[in-house]
Amino acid sequence: MICPECLTEYIKETDVCADCKVSLVDAEPINLPLNEVNWVALAPLAGKVYADMVSEALDNANIPNYIKSDWAESAFSIEAVRMAGMTVKLFVPEEHKDAAEQILHDIVG
Ligand SMILES: [Zn+2]
Repeated sequence: MICPECLTEYIKETDVCADCKVSLVDAEPINLPLNEVNWVALAPLAGKVYADMVSEALDNANIPNYIKSDWAESAFSIEAVRMAGMTVKLFVPEEHKDAAEQILHDIVG
């Protein structure tokens, strides 16, 4: 597991970064050395459903990615999140940004 903010690696028993208080992401599908990856955010998505769709498409294209929500999902209903206009951001390595943006555009228009 790895912190998406500070990229610190944690043992499996931990799921929140002690420094950043954010949920750790599973780094295992990512084969590149993380400290050499410059993560960049794609255009914000209007909900986790879209983010999941794009993430799956990126996985299929062998583009490493992770999703970062701007809210604590457990604290709000889906409806509350939609009403608040909250967004989800997808992060990809900078070298894959153009391809990832094309995939995102194909899915969400
Ligand atoms: Zn951290």
